[in-house]
Amino acid sequence: MLGDSNSSTIVAAFCQGPPQNRTIQGRQSKLLIICSMIRHGRPPLSEKSLLSSANFTLSLLPIRLARRIQALRNLPYIVVSNPNISRIYNNYLHSLCILLPYWHAASQGYPISTRQDEIEFTNVLAELVATHTDTIPILAKGFLECRKYISSAEVTRFLDEHLRARIGTRLVGEQHIALHFSSQPHFAPEDSPTPCPEHPSYIGAIDTALKPSLTIDACAGFVADICELRYGSRPLIYIDGEPDTTTFAFVPMHLEYIVTELLKNAFRATVESKCREPVVVTIAPEPPLKEQPGGAPLIKQSTEDRGQFRSDAIKPLDDNAPGVTIRIRDRGGGISPDVLPNIWSYSFTTFSDDAEFPGPGISGGDGLSAIATASTGGSSIAGLGYGLPLSRAYAEYFGGGIAVQSLYGWGTDVYLRLKGVGNIT
Ligand code: ADP
Ligand code: MG
Repeated sequence: MLGDSNSSTIVAAFCQGPPQNRTIQGRQSKLLIICSMIRHGRPPLSEKSLLSSANFTLSLLPIRLARRIQALRNLPYIVVSNPNISRIYNNYLHSLCILLPYWHAASQGYPISTRQDEIEFTNVLAELVATHTDTIPILAKGFLECRKYISSAEVTRFLDEHLRARIGTRLVGEQHIALHFSSQPHFAPEDSPTPCPEHPSYIGAIDTALKPSLTIDACAGFVADICELRYGSRPLIYIDGEPDTTTFAFVPMHLEYIVTELLKNAFRATVESKCREPVVVTIAPEPPLKEQPGGAPLIKQSTEDRGQFRSDAIKPLDDNAPGVTIRIRDRGGGISPDVLPNIWSYSFTTFSDDAEFPGPGISGGDGLSAIATASTGGSSIAGLGYGLPLSRAYAEYFGGGIAVQSLYGWGTDVYLRLKGVGNIT
Protein backbone atom coordinates (compact mmCIF):
# COMPACT_ATOMS: atom_id res chain seq x y z
CA MET A 1 0.00 0.00 0.00
CA LEU A 2 1.15 3.50 -0.75
CA GLY A 3 1.66 4.87 2.77
CA ASP A 4 1.50 8.61 3.40
CA SER A 5 5.19 8.78 4.36
CA ASN A 6 6.52 7.85 0.95
CA SER A 7 3.54 8.80 -1.18
CA SER A 8 4.72 12.42 -1.59
CA THR A 9 7.98 11.33 -3.20
CA ILE A 10 6.29 8.83 -5.48
CA VAL A 11 3.57 11.26 -6.52
CA ALA A 12 6.16 13.99 -7.16
CA ALA A 13 8.25 11.62 -9.28
CA PHE A 14 5.24 10.57 -11.35
CA CYS A 15 4.13 14.15 -11.85
CA GLN A 16 7.35 14.72 -13.73
CA GLY A 17 6.51 11.83 -16.07
CA PRO A 18 9.01 10.08 -18.30
CA PRO A 19 11.25 12.46 -20.28
CA GLN A 20 9.37 12.03 -23.56
CA ASN A 21 6.07 13.03 -21.92
CA ARG A 22 7.34 16.16 -20.20
CA THR A 23 7.34 18.22 -23.35
CA ILE A 24 3.87 17.14 -24.45
CA GLN A 25 1.31 19.53 -23.11
CA GLY A 26 -2.44 20.10 -23.20
CA ARG A 27 -4.05 19.96 -26.58
CA GLN A 28 -1.13 18.27 -28.27
CA SER A 29 -1.17 15.48 -25.73
CA LYS A 30 -4.92 14.93 -26.27
CA LEU A 31 -4.44 14.59 -29.99
CA LEU A 32 -1.52 12.32 -29.41
CA ILE A 33 -3.58 10.13 -27.10
CA ILE A 34 -6.43 9.86 -29.60
CA CYS A 35 -4.08 9.24 -32.50
CA SER A 36 -2.39 6.49 -30.52
CA MET A 37 -5.70 5.03 -29.37
CA ILE A 38 -6.88 4.72 -32.94
CA ARG A 39 -3.64 3.41 -34.36
CA HIS A 40 -4.18 0.09 -32.61
CA GLY A 41 -6.71 -0.52 -35.37
CA ARG A 42 -10.24 -1.80 -35.65
CA PRO A 43 -11.40 -4.67 -33.47
CA PRO A 44 -10.95 -7.56 -33.30
CA LEU A 45 -7.38 -6.66 -32.47
CA SER A 46 -4.43 -9.00 -32.86
CA GLU A 47 -2.79 -10.08 -29.62
CA LYS A 48 0.18 -7.84 -30.44
CA SER A 49 -2.02 -4.76 -30.89
CA LEU A 50 -3.97 -5.49 -27.72
CA LEU A 51 -0.72 -5.79 -25.74
CA SER A 52 0.55 -2.58 -27.28
CA SER A 53 -2.71 -0.83 -26.32
CA ALA A 54 -2.40 -2.14 -22.74
CA ASN A 55 1.19 -0.91 -22.44
CA PHE A 56 0.27 2.45 -23.95
CA THR A 57 -2.54 2.79 -21.39
CA LEU A 58 -0.13 1.85 -18.60
CA SER A 59 2.37 4.45 -19.82
CA LEU A 60 -0.20 7.23 -19.32
CA LEU A 61 -2.38 6.45 -16.33
CA PRO A 62 -0.02 6.63 -13.32
CA ILE A 63 1.27 10.06 -14.38
CA ARG A 64 -2.23 11.36 -14.89
CA LEU A 65 -3.39 10.01 -11.51
CA ALA A 66 -0.35 11.46 -9.75
CA ARG A 67 -1.05 14.90 -11.21
CA ARG A 68 -4.60 14.77 -9.86
CA ILE A 69 -3.31 13.74 -6.43
CA GLN A 70 -0.88 16.65 -6.51
CA ALA A 71 -3.68 19.08 -7.47
CA LEU A 72 -5.89 17.82 -4.62
CA ARG A 73 -2.97 18.23 -2.21
CA ASN A 74 -2.58 21.82 -3.29
CA LEU A 75 -6.08 22.66 -2.05
CA PRO A 76 -6.28 24.34 1.39
CA TYR A 77 -5.76 21.74 4.12
CA ILE A 78 -9.22 22.26 5.61
CA VAL A 79 -10.76 21.55 2.20
CA VAL A 80 -8.81 18.40 1.44
CA SER A 81 -9.58 17.07 4.92
CA ASN A 82 -13.32 17.27 4.25
CA PRO A 83 -14.57 13.64 4.29
CA ASN A 84 -15.91 13.80 0.74
CA ILE A 85 -12.86 15.47 -0.80
CA SER A 86 -10.50 13.17 1.09
CA ARG A 87 -12.53 10.18 -0.12
CA ILE A 88 -11.75 11.22 -3.69
CA TYR A 89 -8.12 11.90 -2.78
CA ASN A 90 -7.80 8.40 -1.28
CA ASN A 91 -9.48 6.92 -4.32
CA TYR A 92 -6.79 8.40 -6.56
CA LEU A 93 -4.04 7.28 -4.20
CA HIS A 94 -5.48 3.77 -4.15
CA SER A 95 -5.71 3.65 -7.96
CA LEU A 96 -2.10 4.78 -8.33
CA CYS A 97 -1.06 2.15 -5.82
CA ILE A 98 -2.85 -0.59 -7.80
CA LEU A 99 -1.05 0.40 -11.00
CA LEU A 100 2.42 0.76 -9.44
CA PRO A 101 3.46 -2.93 -9.72
CA TYR A 102 2.65 -2.91 -13.44
CA TRP A 103 4.51 0.36 -13.89
CA HIS A 104 7.58 -0.87 -12.02
CA ALA A 105 7.63 -4.13 -13.96
CA ALA A 106 7.40 -2.21 -17.27
CA SER A 107 10.15 0.20 -16.28
CA GLN A 108 12.41 -2.75 -15.44
CA GLY A 109 11.90 -4.20 -18.90
CA TYR A 110 8.90 -6.44 -18.15
CA PRO A 111 5.93 -4.82 -19.90
CA ILE A 112 2.53 -6.48 -20.26
CA SER A 113 3.56 -9.19 -22.69
CA THR A 114 1.22 -12.18 -22.46
CA ARG A 115 -2.48 -12.62 -23.04
CA GLN A 116 -2.91 -13.54 -19.38
CA ASP A 117 -1.11 -10.34 -18.25
CA GLU A 118 -3.36 -8.31 -20.49
CA ILE A 119 -6.55 -9.92 -19.18
CA GLU A 120 -5.44 -9.31 -15.59
CA PHE A 121 -4.49 -5.70 -16.37
CA THR A 122 -7.83 -5.05 -18.11
CA ASN A 123 -9.75 -6.42 -15.12
CA VAL A 124 -7.81 -4.12 -12.81
CA LEU A 125 -8.47 -1.22 -15.17
CA ALA A 126 -12.20 -1.95 -15.33
CA GLU A 127 -12.32 -1.93 -11.54
CA LEU A 128 -10.45 1.39 -11.39
CA VAL A 129 -12.76 3.00 -13.93
CA ALA A 130 -15.79 1.79 -11.95
CA THR A 131 -14.33 3.06 -8.63
CA HIS A 132 -14.16 6.60 -10.00
CA THR A 133 -17.70 6.66 -11.43
CA ASP A 134 -19.24 8.66 -8.57
CA THR A 135 -16.48 11.26 -8.31
CA ILE A 136 -18.63 14.19 -9.44
CA PRO A 137 -21.48 14.11 -6.88
CA ILE A 138 -18.98 13.34 -4.11
CA LEU A 139 -16.74 16.28 -5.04
CA ALA A 140 -19.83 18.46 -5.45
CA LYS A 141 -20.93 17.60 -1.93
CA GLY A 142 -17.44 18.17 -0.55
CA PHE A 143 -17.07 21.60 -2.12
CA LEU A 144 -20.57 22.58 -1.01
CA GLU A 145 -19.65 21.70 2.57
CA CYS A 146 -16.42 23.71 2.26
CA ARG A 147 -17.85 26.82 0.65
CA LYS A 148 -16.93 28.86 3.76
CA TYR A 149 -13.25 28.06 3.28
CA ILE A 150 -12.74 28.38 -0.47
CA SER A 151 -14.03 30.93 -2.97
CA SER A 152 -16.34 29.91 -5.76
CA ALA A 153 -13.74 31.16 -8.29
CA GLU A 154 -11.09 28.86 -6.76
CA VAL A 155 -13.49 25.90 -6.81
CA THR A 156 -14.34 26.56 -10.46
CA ARG A 157 -10.63 26.81 -11.34
CA PHE A 158 -9.84 23.55 -9.55
CA LEU A 159 -12.86 21.66 -10.90
CA ASP A 160 -12.34 22.88 -14.43
CA GLU A 161 -8.81 21.51 -14.51
CA HIS A 162 -9.65 18.40 -12.51
CA LEU A 163 -12.75 17.38 -14.45
CA ARG A 164 -11.12 18.06 -17.82
CA ALA A 165 -8.18 15.88 -16.84
CA ARG A 166 -10.65 13.24 -15.63
CA ILE A 167 -12.36 13.17 -19.04
CA GLY A 168 -9.03 12.27 -20.66
CA THR A 169 -7.99 9.76 -18.02
CA ARG A 170 -11.28 7.89 -18.19
CA LEU A 171 -11.15 7.90 -21.96
CA VAL A 172 -7.70 6.32 -21.94
CA GLY A 173 -8.88 3.55 -19.59
CA GLU A 174 -12.24 3.03 -21.27
CA GLN A 175 -10.63 2.87 -24.70
CA HIS A 176 -8.45 -0.07 -23.74
CA ILE A 177 -11.31 -1.84 -21.94
CA ALA A 178 -13.56 -1.40 -24.97
CA LEU A 179 -10.84 -2.62 -27.34
CA HIS A 180 -10.25 -5.64 -25.12
CA PHE A 181 -13.90 -6.65 -24.96
CA SER A 182 -14.64 -5.88 -28.58
CA SER A 183 -11.84 -8.27 -29.44
CA GLN A 184 -13.62 -10.97 -27.45
CA PRO A 185 -17.24 -9.80 -27.10
CA HIS A 186 -18.49 -13.02 -25.52
CA PHE A 187 -16.42 -12.37 -22.41
CA ALA A 188 -17.65 -8.82 -21.79
CA PRO A 189 -19.19 -8.62 -18.32
CA GLU A 190 -22.81 -7.50 -18.35
CA ASP A 191 -22.06 -4.53 -16.12
CA SER A 192 -18.92 -3.60 -18.06
CA PRO A 193 -18.41 0.19 -17.79
CA THR A 194 -18.03 0.29 -21.56
CA PRO A 195 -20.22 -2.47 -22.95
CA CYS A 196 -18.75 -3.91 -26.09
CA PRO A 197 -20.37 -2.23 -29.06
CA GLU A 198 -20.83 -4.79 -31.78
CA HIS A 199 -21.30 -2.10 -34.35
CA PRO A 200 -18.52 -2.19 -36.97
CA SER A 201 -18.01 1.57 -36.90
CA TYR A 202 -16.59 1.45 -33.36
CA ILE A 203 -12.90 1.64 -32.55
CA GLY A 204 -12.92 1.02 -28.82
CA ALA A 205 -14.89 3.83 -27.17
CA ILE A 206 -15.01 5.90 -30.39
CA ASP A 207 -17.79 5.60 -32.96
CA THR A 208 -16.31 6.59 -36.31
CA ALA A 209 -19.80 7.09 -37.78
CA LEU A 210 -21.76 8.51 -34.87
CA LYS A 211 -25.20 9.78 -35.88
CA PRO A 212 -26.12 12.65 -33.51
CA SER A 213 -29.84 12.42 -34.35
CA LEU A 214 -30.01 8.94 -32.80
CA THR A 215 -28.25 10.12 -29.64
CA ILE A 216 -30.58 13.15 -29.40
CA ASP A 217 -33.66 10.93 -29.82
CA ALA A 218 -32.52 8.55 -27.10
CA CYS A 219 -31.50 11.33 -24.68
CA ALA A 220 -34.74 13.26 -25.30
CA GLY A 221 -36.75 10.18 -24.30
CA PHE A 222 -34.75 9.82 -21.09
CA VAL A 223 -34.95 13.52 -20.20
CA ALA A 224 -38.70 13.60 -20.96
CA ASP A 225 -39.10 10.70 -18.50
CA ILE A 226 -37.37 12.53 -15.66
CA CYS A 227 -39.28 15.69 -16.59
CA GLU A 228 -42.53 13.79 -16.31
CA LEU A 229 -41.50 12.46 -12.91
CA ARG A 230 -40.68 15.94 -11.61
CA TYR A 231 -43.36 18.05 -13.30
CA GLY A 232 -45.93 15.60 -14.65
CA SER A 233 -45.47 16.73 -18.25
CA ARG A 234 -43.24 15.97 -21.25
CA PRO A 235 -42.17 18.83 -23.54
CA LEU A 236 -42.26 18.21 -27.28
CA ILE A 237 -39.06 18.04 -29.28
CA TYR A 238 -38.57 18.56 -32.99
CA ILE A 239 -35.34 17.73 -34.83
CA ASP A 240 -34.54 19.48 -38.11
CA GLY A 241 -31.47 20.34 -40.18
CA GLU A 242 -29.76 17.27 -41.62
CA PRO A 243 -30.48 14.54 -39.08
CA ASP A 244 -30.40 11.62 -41.51
CA THR A 245 -27.11 12.30 -43.25
CA THR A 246 -24.94 13.76 -40.48
CA THR A 247 -22.34 11.43 -38.98
CA PHE A 248 -18.92 12.12 -37.47
CA ALA A 249 -16.24 10.36 -35.42
CA PHE A 250 -16.78 11.00 -31.73
CA VAL A 251 -17.06 9.39 -28.32
CA PRO A 252 -20.77 8.47 -27.92
CA MET A 253 -20.63 8.68 -24.11
CA HIS A 254 -19.43 12.29 -24.32
CA LEU A 255 -22.16 13.29 -26.77
CA GLU A 256 -24.78 11.59 -24.59
CA TYR A 257 -23.61 13.50 -21.52
CA ILE A 258 -23.68 16.89 -23.25
CA VAL A 259 -27.00 16.41 -25.06
CA THR A 260 -28.69 15.10 -21.90
CA GLU A 261 -27.58 18.13 -19.88
CA LEU A 262 -28.56 20.66 -22.56
CA LEU A 263 -31.95 19.03 -23.07
CA LYS A 264 -32.57 18.98 -19.31
CA ASN A 265 -32.04 22.75 -19.23
CA ALA A 266 -34.25 23.34 -22.28
CA PHE A 267 -37.03 21.03 -21.03
CA ARG A 268 -36.94 22.50 -17.53
CA ALA A 269 -37.22 26.06 -18.87
CA THR A 270 -40.05 24.99 -21.22
CA VAL A 271 -42.11 23.35 -18.49
CA GLU A 272 -41.45 25.94 -15.80
CA SER A 273 -42.51 28.76 -18.13
CA LYS A 274 -45.60 26.75 -19.06
CA CYS A 275 -44.64 27.02 -22.72
CA ARG A 276 -46.26 24.68 -25.22
CA GLU A 277 -43.80 25.26 -28.07
CA PRO A 278 -41.50 22.33 -28.86
CA VAL A 279 -37.78 22.42 -28.20
CA VAL A 280 -36.21 22.56 -31.67
CA VAL A 281 -32.89 20.84 -32.26
CA THR A 282 -31.12 21.69 -35.51
CA ILE A 283 -28.30 19.43 -36.70
CA ALA A 284 -25.83 20.98 -39.13
CA PRO A 285 -22.88 18.97 -40.40
CA GLU A 286 -19.61 20.84 -40.47
CA PRO A 287 -17.39 19.98 -43.42
CA PRO A 288 -13.61 19.55 -43.02
CA LEU A 289 -11.76 22.85 -43.13
CA LYS A 290 -9.48 21.85 -45.95
CA GLU A 291 -9.25 18.89 -48.25
CA GLN A 292 -6.21 16.65 -48.25
CA PRO A 293 -4.84 16.32 -51.82
CA GLY A 294 -6.03 13.04 -53.29
CA GLY A 295 -8.51 12.57 -50.45
CA ALA A 296 -6.04 10.47 -48.47
CA PRO A 297 -6.98 9.38 -44.96
CA LEU A 298 -5.90 12.07 -42.56
CA ILE A 299 -4.84 9.85 -39.71
CA LYS A 300 -1.51 8.32 -40.42
CA GLN A 301 -0.92 4.89 -39.02
CA SER A 302 2.02 5.32 -36.71
CA THR A 303 4.41 2.40 -36.51
CA GLU A 304 6.54 4.00 -33.85
CA ASP A 305 7.03 2.74 -30.35
CA ARG A 306 5.11 4.22 -27.47
CA GLY A 307 6.41 7.56 -26.30
CA GLN A 308 8.19 8.40 -29.55
CA PHE A 309 5.58 10.16 -31.61
CA ARG A 310 6.26 12.68 -34.32
CA SER A 311 4.22 15.84 -34.02
CA ASP A 312 3.41 15.76 -37.75
CA ALA A 313 1.55 12.52 -37.20
CA ILE A 314 -1.11 14.27 -35.18
CA LYS A 315 -1.62 17.67 -36.78
CA PRO A 316 -4.07 16.61 -39.53
CA LEU A 317 -6.33 15.12 -36.87
CA ASP A 318 -6.75 18.60 -35.45
CA ASP A 319 -7.35 20.64 -38.58
CA ASN A 320 -9.44 18.48 -40.85
CA ALA A 321 -11.76 16.41 -38.75
CA PRO A 322 -15.37 16.92 -39.87
CA GLY A 323 -17.65 17.97 -37.05
CA VAL A 324 -21.18 18.96 -36.30
CA THR A 325 -23.02 21.96 -34.89
CA ILE A 326 -26.19 21.34 -32.93
CA ARG A 327 -28.49 24.18 -31.95
CA ILE A 328 -30.95 23.57 -29.13
CA ARG A 329 -33.65 26.25 -29.15
CA ASP A 330 -36.27 26.59 -26.44
CA ARG A 331 -39.02 29.12 -25.81
CA GLY A 332 -38.68 28.81 -22.05
CA GLY A 333 -38.26 32.52 -21.25
CA GLY A 334 -34.46 32.87 -21.55
CA ILE A 335 -31.95 33.60 -18.80
CA SER A 336 -32.21 36.78 -16.74
CA PRO A 337 -29.26 39.21 -16.87
CA ASP A 338 -28.47 38.66 -13.16
CA VAL A 339 -28.26 34.88 -13.68
CA LEU A 340 -26.36 34.92 -16.97
CA PRO A 341 -22.86 35.77 -15.62
CA ASN A 342 -23.00 32.76 -13.28
CA ILE A 343 -24.15 29.96 -15.53
CA TRP A 344 -20.62 28.62 -16.19
CA SER A 345 -19.72 28.33 -12.50
CA TYR A 346 -19.74 24.86 -10.99
CA SER A 347 -22.51 24.47 -8.39
CA PHE A 348 -24.46 27.49 -9.63
CA THR A 349 -28.12 26.66 -10.05
CA THR A 350 -31.46 28.43 -9.96
CA PHE A 351 -33.23 25.15 -9.35
CA SER A 352 -34.92 24.64 -6.04
CA ASP A 353 -36.61 21.51 -4.84
CA ASP A 354 -38.84 23.40 -2.41
CA ALA A 355 -40.72 25.69 -4.74
CA GLU A 356 -42.92 23.97 -7.29
CA PHE A 357 -41.82 26.25 -10.13
CA PRO A 358 -39.15 28.67 -8.93
CA GLY A 359 -39.38 30.79 -12.07
CA PRO A 360 -36.54 32.99 -13.35
CA GLY A 361 -34.08 34.53 -10.91
CA ILE A 362 -31.65 33.13 -8.37
CA SER A 363 -33.59 31.00 -5.97
CA GLY A 364 -30.47 29.40 -4.53
CA GLY A 365 -30.99 25.65 -4.54
CA ASP A 366 -28.43 23.96 -2.27
CA GLY A 367 -27.93 21.09 -4.72
CA LEU A 368 -28.17 18.46 -1.98
CA SER A 369 -31.14 16.59 -3.40
CA ALA A 370 -29.54 16.54 -6.87
CA ILE A 371 -26.32 15.26 -5.27
CA ALA A 372 -28.25 12.56 -3.42
CA THR A 373 -29.93 11.46 -6.66
CA ALA A 374 -26.64 11.52 -8.59
CA SER A 375 -24.82 9.53 -5.88
CA THR A 376 -27.27 6.68 -6.26
CA GLY A 377 -26.72 6.65 -10.03
CA GLY A 378 -29.96 8.52 -10.72
CA SER A 379 -30.50 11.78 -12.54
CA SER A 380 -32.61 14.78 -11.62
CA ILE A 381 -33.78 17.45 -14.04
CA ALA A 382 -31.44 20.08 -12.47
CA GLY A 383 -29.88 21.18 -9.20
CA LEU A 384 -26.23 20.14 -9.26
CA GLY A 385 -25.16 23.21 -11.23
CA TYR A 386 -22.60 21.16 -13.18
CA GLY A 387 -24.56 20.72 -16.43
CA LEU A 388 -23.29 23.69 -18.43
CA PRO A 389 -19.66 23.91 -17.21
CA LEU A 390 -19.08 20.17 -17.49
CA SER A 391 -20.76 19.95 -20.91
CA ARG A 392 -18.48 22.72 -22.09
CA ALA A 393 -15.48 20.81 -20.75
CA TYR A 394 -16.56 17.73 -22.75
CA ALA A 395 -17.19 19.80 -25.90
CA GLU A 396 -13.86 21.61 -25.65
CA TYR A 397 -11.96 18.39 -25.06
CA PHE A 398 -11.70 17.73 -28.79
CA GLY A 399 -11.68 21.38 -29.85
CA GLY A 400 -15.42 22.14 -29.89
CA GLY A 401 -17.37 24.51 -27.69
CA ILE A 402 -20.71 25.67 -26.35
CA ALA A 403 -22.23 29.14 -26.71
CA VAL A 404 -25.41 30.25 -24.97
CA GLN A 405 -27.54 32.97 -26.50
CA SER A 406 -30.39 34.11 -24.29
CA LEU A 407 -33.33 36.28 -25.35
CA TYR A 408 -34.59 37.18 -21.92
CA GLY A 409 -38.36 37.03 -21.88
CA TRP A 410 -38.44 34.74 -24.87
CA GLY A 411 -36.12 31.74 -24.92
CA THR A 412 -32.60 30.36 -25.19
CA ASP A 413 -30.44 29.11 -28.06
CA VAL A 414 -27.54 26.86 -27.17
CA TYR A 415 -24.97 26.24 -29.90
CA LEU A 416 -23.01 23.06 -29.39
CA ARG A 417 -20.10 22.77 -31.76
CA LEU A 418 -18.26 19.46 -31.81
CA LYS A 419 -15.14 18.63 -33.68
CA GLY A 420 -14.81 15.02 -34.70
CA VAL A 421 -11.86 13.09 -33.31
CA GLY A 422 -10.50 12.49 -36.78
CA ASN A 423 -11.23 11.82 -40.40
CA ILE A 424 -11.17 8.09 -39.90
CA THR A 425 -11.69 5.88 -42.92
P1 ADP B 1 -28.51 23.13 -13.26
O1 ADP B 1 -29.32 22.72 -14.45
O2 ADP B 1 -28.22 21.99 -12.33
O3 ADP B 1 -29.10 24.31 -12.56
P2 ADP B 1 -26.64 24.03 -15.26
O4 ADP B 1 -25.17 24.27 -15.22
O5 ADP B 1 -27.14 23.07 -16.27
O6 ADP B 1 -27.07 23.60 -13.79
O7 ADP B 1 -27.37 25.40 -15.52
C1 ADP B 1 -27.11 26.51 -14.66
C2 ADP B 1 -28.26 27.51 -14.71
O8 ADP B 1 -28.32 28.12 -16.00
C3 ADP B 1 -29.62 26.89 -14.51
O9 ADP B 1 -29.94 26.70 -13.15
C4 ADP B 1 -30.53 27.95 -15.18
O10 ADP B 1 -30.78 29.02 -14.30
C5 ADP B 1 -29.66 28.48 -16.31
N1 ADP B 1 -30.03 27.89 -17.61
C6 ADP B 1 -29.30 27.00 -18.33
N2 ADP B 1 -29.93 26.68 -19.48
C7 ADP B 1 -31.08 27.38 -19.51
C8 ADP B 1 -32.17 27.49 -20.45
N3 ADP B 1 -32.18 26.79 -21.59
N4 ADP B 1 -33.19 28.35 -20.12
C9 ADP B 1 -33.17 29.04 -18.98
N5 ADP B 1 -32.18 29.00 -18.06
C10 ADP B 1 -31.14 28.17 -18.31
MG1 MG C 1 -28.71 21.73 -16.04
